[in-house]
Amino acid sequence: MITRPFQLSTLKFESFSVVGYSIAGEETVICVPELDVVFDIGRAPRESLAMNHVLLTHGHMDHAAGIGYYFSQRDFQGMAGGKALAPAALVPALETLMAAWSKVEGHPSPHAFVAMNDGDDYELRRKLLVRAFATRHVGATLGYSIIDVRFKLKEEFLALDSPGIVALKKKGVEITHRTEVPLITYFGDTARSNYSDLPHVRTSKVLLLECTFFDLDHVRRARKGRHIHVNDLPELLEGMDNEHVVLIHVTRRTNMADARRLLRKTLRKDQLDRISFLMSRKFIESD
Ligand SMILES: [Zn+2]
Ligand SMILES: [Zn+2]
Repeated sequence: MITRPFQLSTLKFESFSVVGYSIAGEETVICVPELDVVFDIGRAPRESLAMNHVLLTHGHMDHAAGIGYYFSQRDFQGMAGGKALAPAALVPALETLMAAWSKVEGHPSPHAFVAMNDGDDYELRRKLLVRAFATRHVGATLGYSIIDVRFKLKEEFLALDSPGIVALKKKGVEITHRTEVPLITYFGDTARSNYSDLPHVRTSKVLLLECTFFDLDHVRRARKGRHIHVNDLPELLEGMDNEHVVLIHVTRRTNMADARRLLRKTLRKDQLDRISFLMSRKFIESD
């Protein structure tokens, strides 16, 4: 049997990096250290413990199993204040889970869940928020976009010097307007949908997109499990303005060389140029 240390993959982008592991049915956990979030928690690898916000998309074990360990370890290591955002319908069951762990361990682990619904915003820190949106998987599910909020000087005031601006401010004139720059969007598991209708998804700089199935015989399996098949990508990516699309949640049996060949056959060059895999090894199974 091949044994190897558990390794997370790292992808670097302009202002943040993505550090994670994602194999369908096995484990999905994706940290963005600069934004202090981890998308799903998987089995709570060491890297995830330092993130102050867990964004849970749904209750499947491969995405959510580590949540008790996350809170317990953070308490053990003296890192207070971690929060897990989750679909509102799952929060009572997650609380029950923590209560059961408290009995099993003999002491409670401090924890905090934030119930989220489609369209809710939550402030991660000043001028950085997470927006939840409905996805199409099994049970209660949400995706999340991280949005940088910026305030820019209104066009009509651009020519003013700083004393002029100060004078306007003193008069109480609103001199800036608010703009949103979506940085990264994570769907969790989902079937295809009209995601390009959501501006914060369409313009997100990075898209973490599940693409579970590549085998042409597996279209029905994708539909049944409410996942994305490579054949869904052309339509799903149409109208999307993302700079990078990172494919995740590939099955362990996927031969990456075949997957890349299929992508080349399926997508236009401008779409293909933006695509990468989080888990980029040639054969996911063999190493
Ligand atoms: Zn999954
Ligand atoms: Zn799932």
